[in-house]
Amino acid sequence: MNFLHDLIDLLLPQLCAGCGEEPALLCNTCAAPLLSTPRQLSAPPGVPPTWTIAHYEGPVQTTLVNYKERGRTPLADPLGRALANAIEAAHKPPAPSGRQLIVVPVPSNRGTTRRRGHDPLGGVVDAALHHLRAHGVNATKTPALRQRRRVDDQAGLNATERAANLAGALEVNPRTDMTGRRVLLADDVITTGASLAESARALRAAGAEVTAAATVAATPLRRPRR
Ligand SMILES: [Zn+2]
Repeated sequence: MNFLHDLIDLLLPQLCAGCGEEPALLCNTCAAPLLSTPRQLSAPPGVPPTWTIAHYEGPVQTTLVNYKERGRTPLADPLGRALANAIEAAHKPPAPSGRQLIVVPVPSNRGTTRRRGHDPLGGVVDAALHHLRAHGVNATKTPALRQRRRVDDQAGLNATERAANLAGALEVNPRTDMTGRRVLLADDVITTGASLAESARALRAAGAEVTAAATVAATPLRRPRR
């Protein structure tokens, strides 16, 4: 699947994943929102303090869809750079030197991962950690969370439905001991915050302390914190 996409990318002239016009992976105009200053969102109850970079609209939305659904895997790098900036902002004050920053990705729907043939968030988090390490931040990815039951696709559900769909849906893999560990959650997009809230609940239930969350983008209904 990825091989086929890589082959197509190699054979066809590449056009910008945001606007489809410029001959680039991502043109400067479409990349600009991903370079915005990190901002903190007003987190609903149960959602850890959350930092994000871009608004999920226009070229940013198109770029994420092209990355996740159309296998444009090299986009993991610019998206990961944005996530790294959000993680750095969320990770203040930094942990004492030597202590590792543990980043836990929000798990995606198992069926969705199979259909896509790749793990989009995992790729973005890996790219983000690469950038963080280059900045001297000692960070590691711990995919501690997994689904304990089937959930419906969140798209098309309102905030109440999303929360109900996800309530109790996640758990920490019993083979991963999270007791007493301080972690930061990472996701690509925050919509209502239901996925982050359920992830934080499951981690806390397993004895972890969830200090913050970071995402690449937020849907426009998420207003900045005043
Ligand atoms: Zn563009």
